[in-house]
Amino acid sequence: MSTVLEAADLTRQYEVRKGFLGKTAIVRALNGVSFSLTSGKTLAVVGESGCGKSTLARLVTMIEEPTAGTLLIDGRPAEASDRALRQMVQIVFQNPYGSLNPRQKIGAILEEPLKVNTSDDAPTRRRKAQAMMERVGLRAEHYERYPHMFSGGQRQRVAIARALMLNPKILVLDEPVSALDLSIQAQVLNLLIDLQQEFGLAYLFISHDLSVVKHIADEVMVMYLGRPVEVGTAETVFGDPRHPYTQALLSATPVADPTHVRQQVKLVGELPSPLNIPSGCAFHPRCPIAVPRCAVDTPHLRPVAGRAVSCHLA
Ligand code: SF4
Ligand code: MG
Repeated sequence: MSTVLEAADLTRQYEVRKGFLGKTAIVRALNGVSFSLTSGKTLAVVGESGCGKSTLARLVTMIEEPTAGTLLIDGRPAEASDRALRQMVQIVFQNPYGSLNPRQKIGAILEEPLKVNTSDDAPTRRRKAQAMMERVGLRAEHYERYPHMFSGGQRQRVAIARALMLNPKILVLDEPVSALDLSIQAQVLNLLIDLQQEFGLAYLFISHDLSVVKHIADEVMVMYLGRPVEVGTAETVFGDPRHPYTQALLSATPVADPTHVRQQVKLVGELPSPLNIPSGCAFHPRCPIAVPRCAVDTPHLRPVAGRAVSCHLA
């Protein structure tokens, strides 16, 4: 097992125009996030929309550059111009309808990355595409079919196969099963787990759905308004969450074992706009246990009971 990605203090800000007067404001989409990815392991990034998950995905896939901080992939600084590095990181999106060209046959979709990035001849490309189709649970005769001829789950298998065509080391999975029926979700998650073992892939698994994340995560990073609030092994964080926000997220998911009593924490109020991040602890307007200090004093991640938590009272 080896570290394939190291992110230190990753920060991403956007300038946006506010209102009719066109005054510019700064949106802090991601604010000092550090983590690493290990081959064969899954880091899940969890939070509501607006927490910075998608921004993180765009930085790791080198679609965007960080405003500050460093990102090393396979020990090298992340640069979009570094083609070999870009091939190392692939992404699977939530919506396979949107990410697959409806006018291309599955075979052509899978061969495209080989055509662009390798000198493989046509028979080699076809052989590799068909081998990958079988690996993800599709059949060789599907090669001539179009995306609309598949179910949602099958289409997501195609998207996963395409992501693997160039032997990446890292897969960013951006809500990869959120658009699928529950019964299909488990199949696709199990496929992802198998592929991870077989190819030694590092997963950055982005999701708002904790019941999905529990299934697949080794490590968890819970994010709120661009900052991590609790980071640790899945077992520690899910078994005994210490940040009030993690507790609230977990309260909202059904418990498999009804004899297990979990403290109920309700989220109050709406998620604030990233344009107006609250002072002090950004979570304080919604936190059920906030004290006056929370509105003025920003907490930072510190070790608490075997994981890191950003809360004055943890
Ligand atoms: Fe709640 Fe204060 Fe902890 Fe923030 S620092 S989570 S407001 S108790
Ligand atoms: Mg998103």
